[in-house]
Amino acid sequence: MQHYPQPITKLMDGFMKLPGIGPKTAARLAFFVLSMEEDDVLNFAKSLVDAKRKLNYCSVCGHITDQDPCRICEDKHRDQTAICVVQDPKDVIAMEKMREYSGLYHVLHGAISPMDGVGPEDINLTPLIQRLQDDTVQEVILATNPTIEGEATAMYISRLIKPSGIRITRIAHGLPVGGDLEYADEVTLSKALEGRREL
Ligand SMILES: [Zn+2]
Repeated sequence: MQHYPQPITKLMDGFMKLPGIGPKTAARLAFFVLSMEEDDVLNFAKSLVDAKRKLNYCSVCGHITDQDPCRICEDKHRDQTAICVVQDPKDVIAMEKMREYSGLYHVLHGAISPMDGVGPEDINLTPLIQRLQDDTVQEVILATNPTIEGEATAMYISRLIKPSGIRITRIAHGLPVGGDLEYADEVTLSKALEGRREL
């Protein structure tokens, strides 16, 4: 990288902070930026800053939002009696694309993983328990990923809320084991939701 002019190296460093981008791709992207129209570059830079400044996490469900509470939490037409628990904001987007679920969400921002030192207190779990206190919610759908961590998290949450008498379901294994919810196609996801089982 020492062969490149410094502004290019800086730009490449920036790209390499993104997931899945190594030095080769970073160089290709950096040189592509040089060939772009100045307006396009300025707009792109602005949208990066805007996304970071204007987006935050919903104080109720933990989904990404530009308003608080988010539009989903605020929508009174949605089924207030069901909460679908997912690991990542991208999973909410995957579920919403499917258009078959009209309840609420709760985003954990991770999964319990003792191997990586991630315990229940390290994920967005306490606010979920608080949301279940006022008897409105009748079903909690555990839609964590079908991975060891996702399963362990689902089991943990299930045991935690079982005494409350709330119905707890786990989405079916139509999803490929080890896969991420966000990569499941809409049909698979829809089947997984339809075939959810009681825990
Ligand atoms: Zn929300």
